Amino acid sequence: MNNFDFHNPTRIVFGEGKIAQLDALVPSNARVMVLFGGESARSTGTLGEVTAALGKRDIHEFSDIEPNPSFETLMRAVTRVRDEKIDFLLAVGGGSVIDGTKFVAAAALFEGDEWDILLQGGGNIDKALPFGAVLTLPATGSEMNQGAVVTRKSLKTKLPFRSQHVFPKFSILDPTKTFTLPPRQVANGVVDAFVHVMEQYLTYPAQAPVQDRFSEGLLQTLIEIGPQCLAEPENYQVRASLMWTATMALNGLIGSGVPQDWATHMLGHELTALHNLDHAQTLAIVLPSMLRERKAAKQAKLVQYAERVWNMTEGSAEQKADAAIDKTQAFFESMGVKTHLADYQLGEEHIDELIDGLKKNGMNKLGENGDVTPDMCRRVLQRSLR
Ligand code: NAP
Ligand code: FE
Repeated sequence: MNNFDFHNPTRIVFGEGKIAQLDALVPSNARVMVLFGGESARSTGTLGEVTAALGKRDIHEFSDIEPNPSFETLMRAVTRVRDEKIDFLLAVGGGSVIDGTKFVAAAALFEGDEWDILLQGGGNIDKALPFGAVLTLPATGSEMNQGAVVTRKSLKTKLPFRSQHVFPKFSILDPTKTFTLPPRQVANGVVDAFVHVMEQYLTYPAQAPVQDRFSEGLLQTLIEIGPQCLAEPENYQVRASLMWTATMALNGLIGSGVPQDWATHMLGHELTALHNLDHAQTLAIVLPSMLRERKAAKQAKLVQYAERVWNMTEGSAEQKADAAIDKTQAFFESMGVKTHLADYQLGEEHIDELIDGLKKNGMNKLGENGDVTPDMCRRVLQRSLR
């Protein structure tokens, strides 16, 4: 096991009706900005519940945070936060709204060019406004982590940042708030959470048995409940499991003391930045090919994954590794998330620009061994064509 320093300060308040607790969680004298996305927060009634719980506090709303939140939109929120002297932010939505709120929290107090936060990966953040979240889409883990991803539309660039200053103070997880999700977003959430676990688990053996077992439990749970989440949208227990699994998949616990990959995410970000695919769609395209391309380096963990997650007992190590990758891809397809570039009307002619994007963003040495080069990413995309 590697050395690590694990501190997760986010309070999780879980269960039906827990939005009412906002009154106790948000300082009573706060000037609050409630940030949300397009229509869903209002049309589902969640926003109404939130404002009712906030009672007499001074509330300001900021809507229209788009999926894959843009720097351009978020900077409008930053201006309002500064002008209106907001001192507490509340995100109501999925990963995009929570990530966007993290950026606003840091940028509002940042001295200098706010885009530098992304260029420096968050290392230059030394303070942020306090904020909380009401999660409506289980997927990203953003509700309990210190990471966020922001897109600058004018540059067609999507970059991550992280900082200990942007952990939410609290997140409210009410599984009933997910009942209104369209099937596409439910499937996206299952795939994103699955790939988060894979990025931290499917590397090389690190003598970390408890992290491995936690990861395998999360993957098995997603395989088990994924289809149920689609078939029974109002099954409380199934949605509760999805919510907690997605949070646990990326709150730092399973990633402590182990190598981490993240090459699939970084290549996926290019697909979203240039072609506006959903985040999870990009992961479903990239991960199976990424594993095939790096099968030799990852073989020991691929075999462990095959045996423990997919219960494979037959065949050679190589056959098990191959079969486990095939199973992974088939699982994404069974959730309705397509896994080939052709499924999204993308072809060979788009690959150069995607690889140029990676290079432009300095993504030249990805993966747990730093050996995932742009050339390797090109081969990964070629494998994913059709
Ligand atoms: P999202 O982009 O936040 O939301 C997708 C769509 O779902 C929105 O159009 C939203 O509609 C709708 N929606 C949300 N909740 C709903 C509900 N309860 N009922 C009906 N519709 C609802 O999706 P996401 O997958 O959670 O977030 C993706 C973003 O997170 C990407 O930018 C990705 O790169 C990032 N990400 C972050 C992390 C991290 O650690 N921070 C990890 C992975 C990915 P409205 O707009 O109408 O509200
Ligand atoms: Fe993700």
